[in-house]
Amino acid sequence: MLQQTQVQTVIPYFNKFRKKFKTLRSLSKSNEKQVLKLWEGLGYYRRARNLLATSKLLVKKYDSKLPNNIEEVKKLPGVGEYTANALLGLIYNQPKIAIDGNVMRVFARLLNKKKEKINYERLILLNKKKLFHINRNADFVEALMEFGALICKPKDPKCGVCCLNKSCKYFRSIRKITTKEKKVIKEMNYDIFCYLNNNKQIALTKENKIGFLKNFNLPEIKNMRKKSTLKNWKFLKNYKNSISNLKLNINLYYKFSNKKPSNYNWYFLKNNKEFIPSFTKKIFKQVSILF
Ligand code: SF4
Repeated sequence: MLQQTQVQTVIPYFNKFRKKFKTLRSLSKSNEKQVLKLWEGLGYYRRARNLLATSKLLVKKYDSKLPNNIEEVKKLPGVGEYTANALLGLIYNQPKIAIDGNVMRVFARLLNKKKEKINYERLILLNKKKLFHINRNADFVEALMEFGALICKPKDPKCGVCCLNKSCKYFRSIRKITTKEKKVIKEMNYDIFCYLNNNKQIALTKENKIGFLKNFNLPEIKNMRKKSTLKNWKFLKNYKNSISNLKLNINLYYKFSNKKPSNYNWYFLKNNKEFIPSFTKKIFKQVSILF
């Protein structure tokens, strides 16, 4: 849940989730519908699907325990190098460091080098004895993440109170080397086509291939074309929507009809019991003005 999401946002979701699923086994027995409903509003829904798939795999194949070698852990859905290292460090106290942007920045500052100039794996290997000597690797992994987030922050690091400032080359150097941390934003242009009926319903399908919401409930969505080529659809409005690193420019079209394509289902614009991603809910809001 914490991937790309702030702690304050996650807390109510986490509590609700833990209340519903008290054990790994209870999570593994649930289904995608239930899990996504609890996740609704938190975004990055692939995480929820992966978590569910991982719980099922752990119960079935690994007797409800996380495997303790990195190659096996990396086979779990949604677990890459970073998460695998974090899990093995946190859960099994293994000498691992999860290298994310925060950790890279801390190392880069300690050495006063550009982030991309450092071979982190080699650096950790060469300093293994110093880094892991007290055998509290679980604490160390967590401390390093917190240190990057709270003390050695991207902007205005708290060097004055930092326990490492005596040995930090960035702090001691007159020529401080920094790396610009910029988020790569991708702009996309889409046309969205909404079938509506007089019962205040909209037709949605899970058969879409749009990467960021693949297999979730959406109206028809296509790459943007010229308005003049879309004669059978009424143009409602243009609006912008941002999802993670995507900036979406959307032209919204609609058509009132009692017929819908066969692979679509009707959904009410309000009070749906089923999970609806926030992206689709925003579309609901836009078309609601037509009723
Ligand atoms: S002294 Fe400043 S730059 Fe160096 S590690 Fe501490 S907070 Fe980061």
